[in-house]
Amino acid sequence: MNKVVASAAVAILSVGDELILGQIEDTNASWLARALQAIGRMPGERRTVGDDRAALADALRALASTHAAVIVSGGLGPTLDDLTREALLDVVARGEELVSDESGVEHLRGWFEKRGRPMPVSNLRQALRPASARLIPNPHGTAPGIAADFARDGNRCHIFCLPGPPNEMKPMFDAFVAPVLRDDSNIVATAALHSIGLGESTLAERLGDLMERGREPSVGTTASDGIVSIRVRATGAHDAARAALDATVDECLKRAGNIVYGRDGEPLAAVVGRMLVERGLTISTAESCTGGLLGAFITEVAGSSAWFMGGAITYANERKTSDLGVAPATIEAYGAVSHETAIEMARGALARFNTDIAIATTGVAGPSGGSEVKPVGTVYVAVALRGTARTAAPVMGVRR
Ligand code: AMP
Ligand code: MG
Repeated sequence: MNKVVASAAVAILSVGDELILGQIEDTNASWLARALQAIGRMPGERRTVGDDRAALADALRALASTHAAVIVSGGLGPTLDDLTREALLDVVARGEELVSDESGVEHLRGWFEKRGRPMPVSNLRQALRPASARLIPNPHGTAPGIAADFARDGNRCHIFCLPGPPNEMKPMFDAFVAPVLRDDSNIVATAALHSIGLGESTLAERLGDLMERGREPSVGTTASDGIVSIRVRATGAHDAARAALDATVDECLKRAGNIVYGRDGEPLAAVVGRMLVERGLTISTAESCTGGLLGAFITEVAGSSAWFMGGAITYANERKTSDLGVAPATIEAYGAVSHETAIEMARGALARFNTDIAIATTGVAGPSGGSEVKPVGTVYVAVALRGTARTAAPVMGVRR
């Protein structure tokens, strides 16, 4: 038989048919994962199960056998589809009955009394717990949480069951669970480096053995919306983990080269803005297919009025001419989605907004309008710079 190796990690179990069916997002699990790292604990396995007593008990038993703690969220409501209590009983005290907790009944009575409402009998279910377990107070709702201990094959595990509503779950984690699980001797230190311009696999090649599994600190990459992020994680004693993290981050920066623009969620537009301010430069936009998206990215950055002068959204060909001065003959000869039109749009914005730099976009956004030569997804981006002899700055055709 395989020996199950228990870990110091904390498992997260999300409960509810609505999660399985994709009707609501499992925000609890991501929040808990971050909250655990903040108190020096590594998140371990994460599972989601529907409102099914047997499936819930199986998942809970499996996780409790291999982790130092399991945090369950959901399934503590008053109705018949809320089965976390029963599943917990199956795991920690098979064959016993749930007992009614005095303090739990008092909490429920007080809750309804304070609101001047009669208490439905079904709510009394929420005061039930396995005899060996304790209730976790819930100041913001009717459902108390339940804390129980589980021991098997030499592994001891704390189980914490918390209600699903995030506004109830979070304060209960902070007040009750975090103090029990906090590990001050340990931190989980993380850093993210954001890059643009290289594909994920090419970047991974540059990072080389830094990405080997089992390496400490660990290095991984994730790609989203054209941005590839390098994620570094170090676990251990405070100073040692920080030092190890910094050393690995430096090595990643060295190997990745100049494609890294920012750290820890910093938006690309904010970094661009900082660089413009340092150089005393201003920028404007001329947008067709992006419909103002570029301007929106820029104006999301606090203080962008110092370097962003404005933009034109010119969807119609006539507006490219009237607002930006694109020659009708250019559009006629090369089309609205072309290298030439993009350049004239950028030049137009440069002059009209009186900036040092202008960026123009024109492309086929789809779903229709594509052709053999210019399929849906073809985008031309032009950058015009003040004072350069050749305004025909970088232009590229990008295909999605
Ligand atoms: P329950 O404790 O199962 O009765 O959950 C009650 C409500 O809490 C659900 O209807 C959701 O709105 C919310 N909820 C439950 N689980 C989650 C979760 N994992 N993430 C975010 N919200 C949740
Ligand atoms: Mg539920």
